[in-house]
Amino acid sequence: MSTPHVLVVNAGSSSLKYSLVDAATGATPGHGLVERIGESTGTLVHHGPEGETRIEGPVADHEAAFQLARDAFTDHGPQLSSYDVVAVGHRVVHGGERFSQPVLIDDDVLAAVRDLVPLAPLHNPANLEGIASARALFPDLPHVAIFDTAFHQTLPEHAYTYAVPRDWVGEHGIRRYGFHGTSFSFVAQAAADLLERPLTELNLIVAHLGNGASVTAVRGGESVETSMGMTPLEGLVMGTRSGDVDPALHAHLHRELGWSLDEIDRILNRESGLKGLAGENDFREVLRLRDEGDAAAALAFDVYCHRLRKYVGAYYAVLGTVDAIVFTGGVGENAAPVRAATLSGLERLGISVDEQRNAERSDQARSISPDPSTEGGTDVAVLVVPTDEEWEIARQSVAVSG
Ligand code: ADP
Repeated sequence: MSTPHVLVVNAGSSSLKYSLVDAATGATPGHGLVERIGESTGTLVHHGPEGETRIEGPVADHEAAFQLARDAFTDHGPQLSSYDVVAVGHRVVHGGERFSQPVLIDDDVLAAVRDLVPLAPLHNPANLEGIASARALFPDLPHVAIFDTAFHQTLPEHAYTYAVPRDWVGEHGIRRYGFHGTSFSFVAQAAADLLERPLTELNLIVAHLGNGASVTAVRGGESVETSMGMTPLEGLVMGTRSGDVDPALHAHLHRELGWSLDEIDRILNRESGLKGLAGENDFREVLRLRDEGDAAAALAFDVYCHRLRKYVGAYYAVLGTVDAIVFTGGVGENAAPVRAATLSGLERLGISVDEQRNAERSDQARSISPDPSTEGGTDVAVLVVPTDEEWEIARQSVAVSG
């Protein structure tokens, strides 16, 4: 028998991502993605010892998707039975104020996640479907819920409170929750490991820049401020989300153009951000178009970096002192121009990016600031740390179910 493994599951409204993860090393002997669940044609792409296997055909619902995934393990490997699978770890987007830790799933937990659907109407219902289907297929394994919001339950009241009528928070849960918590938790610890200092002694600004994007101020391992709010729309410019806008925008568009609130919400979540500004939500495309002299892509890049820079400045002030600024996520790990533009000209704040280190490509955690001891060396380390949310979910699942 091998070391403990976890089947990590991320169920979206029409997709199912799964991965068999070694909780000790993060290795993934098998993983896959089912897409277009509920549509006339679906796909499963499974990766195992035979390489990539593609299966096309209709996938009726999440339970059918899990069956396909389980069959893919059986038919193409790796065999689940040859691993010590100790739990199924489910990513759940919204845990509200109830969940500050991962939990073993029981009927009470499911009811609580269901109660939180109004706060995450797109995500929590899909997560619930994923859990129900996985429990039906793997009834003998413990199932663990890991919440994107949990890491931010340490936010102080003055950071999570919106300046709205006081009873809104108690009666309707209107407050900042923050998201990407699994990634922030993993990356903060990995940054401390890289710096060879205890996380409890560090002040970090961590920017998770993927399709969604958010930035968090981490003091001593705890989230003290974060840019996403009650929903994942607030904060940074993202692939398709606007991030911060004037909160009066909805009323204006509704009043002046007659657009429904649902339509405005859809546009701000799905048609805005980089896609709205540059016509592309993939950052590689934005960079390519910008290099070709496309003015819209150049503006999208500038708006993206400017917004992030504002947050870095704000969180520097929140923390008082900063030991490291950490970039992660597909954009943060790969887009050197974003890191350079965001942090340019901040030497007086002790922040600088070494051009050569920044340009080097690597999938390892690394520093891109000059060494503190060299001339031009600065106080604040600038780090690139690859995130691994699945490994973090596996580790937390073992901790809870063990
Ligand atoms: P998700 O939020 O879905 O987990 P990722 O963290 O994988 O997404 O990030 C996806 C984003 O990372 C995309 O916008 C993609 O264009 C960007 N990205 C990936 N590789 C590169 C690269 N080499 N240069 C710039 N951007 C990249």
